[in-house]
Amino acid sequence: MNGPAGTTVLRGVRPLGGAPQDVTVRGSRITAVTPSVTTADGDGLILLPALVDLHTHLREPGDTPSETIASGTRAAAHGGYSDVLAMANCVPVTDTPERVRHIIDRAALTASCRVHPVGAVTSGLAGRDLAPLDAMAAAGAVMFSDDGVCVDDPALLVRALEAARRTGTLVAQHAQCPRLVAGGQVNAGAAARATGLPPWPATGEESIVARDVVLAGATGGRLHICHVSTAGTVEIVRWAKSRGWPVTAEVTPHHLLLTDAMTHDADPLHKVNPPLRTAEDVTALRAALRDGTIDAVATDHAPHTASSKDNHWCEAPFGMLGLETALPVVAEALGAGAEPDWALVATVMSTRPAAVAGLSAVAGRPLRAGEPATFTLVDPRANWRVDRTRSVSASDNTPFHGMTFRHRVVATMVEGRVTADIDGRLATSTGGPDGA
Ligand SMILES: [Zn+2]
Repeated sequence: MNGPAGTTVLRGVRPLGGAPQDVTVRGSRITAVTPSVTTADGDGLILLPALVDLHTHLREPGDTPSETIASGTRAAAHGGYSDVLAMANCVPVTDTPERVRHIIDRAALTASCRVHPVGAVTSGLAGRDLAPLDAMAAAGAVMFSDDGVCVDDPALLVRALEAARRTGTLVAQHAQCPRLVAGGQVNAGAAARATGLPPWPATGEESIVARDVVLAGATGGRLHICHVSTAGTVEIVRWAKSRGWPVTAEVTPHHLLLTDAMTHDADPLHKVNPPLRTAEDVTALRAALRDGTIDAVATDHAPHTASSKDNHWCEAPFGMLGLETALPVVAEALGAGAEPDWALVATVMSTRPAAVAGLSAVAGRPLRAGEPATFTLVDPRANWRVDRTRSVSASDNTPFHGMTFRHRVVATMVEGRVTADIDGRLATSTGGPDGA
């Protein structure tokens, strides 16, 4: 720390990858951003608005051996996140206003980032009775989703979209036709042939997305498509947006980088829902993120204990960790070995997801004087090798174990409070001759 009491100066950091600046933080706010004269101190760290995750599974209540609100939000802070949306598939399911408030209260006691509850669309995720969406919205739910399962009944989805419209929220659909995907384990085609495992076809996703965008258009209720994984879904979302329908979409870091070729060895670390797809799908997803057809990156952070995940493929649960590795994975996917367009990274990982969730007043803000000091610092020359044994999540089921990434998040600040400072890098970048 340096400068007057209560003031921190980040020296020589590069907002959105631009020219080095000195960024002054006082209390909870940025008070000045000025061209840097001491470029060495900040080490050229990239300054981004802190990230916002639309799709996190924190597992509390109900499955605290795999993750808790405390451990999951610590992983979020280490990954550069200020805000996460906590999915409803806990035990018990977040399907009443009391359970929404319980998560808000637990987060206030234990969380390392802001937590925004997602309410279930149907009671118990059972797909039969609509949950009390209006009351949950009033209690603080910012979105509704049965994620983990699809809201298969179109009449129920229509009622949910109408409630979303009434309450100024949105419905996030896990698009998976139960009949077409029944028992599906790996991408249909080469992966299913190589492993002999039951196929999870692209049509299982695309048929639901095609139906649901029509329902969003008809009701005017906002629909968000979770974890888009196929080139065909991209085309449907593009068409829906061209009609002016209230549709947004997300893609996960793993679907932007990994392909179904990784599932040929049937290692359950690569088991995820929807499954890893083809290289052609990955290319289409990256292009859709660049052109805005896909609005945001969302992690689908899905912790599972080693005892459940280290299992035969069919017995192991679907899901991968995502929060700690999202930024380097997305930078790699969008940069293709070079520096990515950092403004684009900030748009798809912070500004737009904040807008989708209705959090633009506090998250995804510009990096300028007067704004909240809510940002993350990225080392652009970290050459960071991911080691699953060093995960700060309570679980370690990352598919990126052993992979080396050029970039790494080194510190996160939320409204002036340091929520992660890996290897003391924030302290280093605030050192200076006038240090107090
Ligand atoms: Zn899902």
